[in-house]
Amino acid sequence: MTYYGIGWYSSIILLIPALIFTLYAQSKVKSTYREYSQTGCRKRITGAQAARKMLDANGLQHVNILMCSGELTDHYHPGNQTVNLSAGVYNGTSIAAIGVACHECGHAVQHARHYAPLGIRNAIVPVTNFASKLAIPLFLIGLILGFAGLEIIGILFYGLAVLFQAITLPVEFNASRRALQQITDVGIVYDDEVEGAKKVLTAAALTYVAALFTSLMQLFRLILIARSRND
Ligand SMILES: [Zn+2]
Repeated sequence: MTYYGIGWYSSIILLIPALIFTLYAQSKVKSTYREYSQTGCRKRITGAQAARKMLDANGLQHVNILMCSGELTDHYHPGNQTVNLSAGVYNGTSIAAIGVACHECGHAVQHARHYAPLGIRNAIVPVTNFASKLAIPLFLIGLILGFAGLEIIGILFYGLAVLFQAITLPVEFNASRRALQQITDVGIVYDDEVEGAKKVLTAAALTYVAALFTSLMQLFRLILIARSRND
C-alpha cells in the first residue's frame, strides 16, 4: 500500500500555475481592452451600428440589438434572438467596442447556421450547471466520510464541467473568427484597424483557455487526492 500523502490542502500547489496563467490572462485582457477602448475607429461607427451591419450582411435582420446594464455583460441571447450590448459597447466608437459587438453577432450567426459546438454547449448547460455545483461538495463529503464512491461521482461531475469549458473554446474562437471576417468583408472599419480588434478578441479568448486549464488542473488534483486515499 502506497500513500502519496497528497491531501486537500497540500495539493493546492497544483493550482498555482493555473492561477498565474489566469492572472496573466486577466491582466492581458484588461490592458488590451483599455488600449483599444481608447482607440476610436476612423469611420466613427458605434458598436450597435457595427452589429447591425454584420447581422444584416448575414441575413439576420430579425435579430434585435438591445442595450444591457453592467460592464462586460455583452452576450447573445438565443432564446429571444437578441444581441445584448453593454452601454459602453453599444454607444462606443472604439475598436474594442466594435470587436466585442461583432463577436456577439458571431454567436447569432452560429445560432442561425446551426453551428454544432454551440448546439452541444447549449444542450449540456442544464446538466453541467447542476453537476458543477455538486461536484466539489460531493467529493469533500466522500473524502471526509471515506466513501470512495462519492469521491468518484464528484470527479465525474467535475469532468462534465470541464467538458463544458472545452466545448466553449471552439464556440468562442469561431465567433471571433466570424467577427473579424465580417469586419474586414463588410468594411466596418478600415483595414489597418482590424488588427486592434483581433488583439482584443484574442486576449478575451485567452481567459477561456485559462479557465479550461484551471479546471483541468483541479480535475487532476481531485483524481490524485482520491488515488492517494484509496491506494
Ligand atoms: Zn462569446
